[in-house]
Amino acid sequence: MITSQISQINQTVLECLNKEDEVLIVGAFAELAQRVLVANYSFVWIDSVASRDLKQVYRSLDAPFTLPVPKEGGRNYSVLKNFVPDYVTNIKKSREKSHVSKFVQSFVIIPLTYKETIYGTMVLCFKNKVIFSKDKKVICEYIGNSAAQAITIGRLKKKEHRSMLVSAEREADMKEERLRKQFIADATHEIRTPLAIIKGNVDLALLNEKRSGSFVKKTFMAIDHEVEHLSHIISDLAVLTSEVETVNGDLVKKRINLADIVESVVVRHRTLGNNKKIAIATALAKRIYVLGDRIYIARLLSNLIRNSITYGRENGWIRIETLRHGNNAMIVVRDNGIGISKDDLPHIYSRFYRADKSHSSGGVNTGLGLAIANWIVKAHGGKIEVKSILGKGTTFRISLPILKVD
Ligand code: ADP
Repeated sequence: MITSQISQINQTVLECLNKEDEVLIVGAFAELAQRVLVANYSFVWIDSVASRDLKQVYRSLDAPFTLPVPKEGGRNYSVLKNFVPDYVTNIKKSREKSHVSKFVQSFVIIPLTYKETIYGTMVLCFKNKVIFSKDKKVICEYIGNSAAQAITIGRLKKKEHRSMLVSAEREADMKEERLRKQFIADATHEIRTPLAIIKGNVDLALLNEKRSGSFVKKTFMAIDHEVEHLSHIISDLAVLTSEVETVNGDLVKKRINLADIVESVVVRHRTLGNNKKIAIATALAKRIYVLGDRIYIARLLSNLIRNSITYGRENGWIRIETLRHGNNAMIVVRDNGIGISKDDLPHIYSRFYRADKSHSSGGVNTGLGLAIANWIVKAHGGKIEVKSILGKGTTFRISLPILKVD
């Protein structure tokens, strides 16, 4: 009999080891104690005597009676001092009578102690007179000890969990700080190059004050080219800074018809494509909707199409398709341009990374386009994938959660 009760107690300890909430732990033990000792009512006071602030953290729900808060110097305190349960078999003879409900005939106060720590007491009340046999006394002590052990482990786990959270937070802060510094260093480096070119051209012009109009024109054109490049870098940096600061708080998401937005971006790029005799073809499925920010989705498409033109061949082609794929809307941008090497592919979404170094100065190639595209896709809960064969062409596939298909 006693072995099965002890195994029930052990089982409760196991169940409580993952609970970090003391109230849940003492509740589980109070219920177990009632069951094992056939008591009618239990309640638990917790917080060691050291704090002088015992609080009732658990009482059985069907309580027909109440007991007074233990007073300093009262019976509970002597239990806590001696670490042994106090068994009161005949309430009538007890000096406790005045404090206890008339429905209680016997009770036991069990100290909740583990190693040197005292957590409080658990009181079990019986409507009848109970003789506490040797076995019952063993169980009472065992319950008090097990509950306190489970609380100790629960508290340790809570502490460990908290310190893990703190160190993870600290690590994330440090990582963010490193990224921020790297970002500033990269941005400074990128801005310095066009500035140096501008300065070189201005110095040259000053040295050659009296030179012809064509020389002056060439110098101004070089300066203009770099100023344009600088303004592209600054505009891209502004997008990426808003990423750092607001993640996606700045996005204004609305229902967007994918075919419409793709069409409007394509129209804007036709002239650019024509300059290189690149044909842009579309195959756009109708009535696919996504929840997105128009400006950012347009920017994403524009970055991809612009790249396909920049890294495309004369007389080449670009195909843009939208389709439904399960619960996702897919946008595919395919070109037969110069392609990206296997070594470069893993880095193309990094800020300022350029696989094709020949485009690194001047114009709109800031090395930020795909970093921005990648961020926009993520901020919309989507995925971006690339496949490319050097010399043959590149395909970008974007999937975004679909909003509705009529
Ligand atoms: P950039 O402003 O230099 O185009 P991106 O971040 O948009 O910067 O792209 C990073 C690099 O990836 C580019 O410098 C280019 O080398 C390569 N790349 C991007 N798109 C294509 C493409 N469609 N075809 C070939 N190379 C591409």
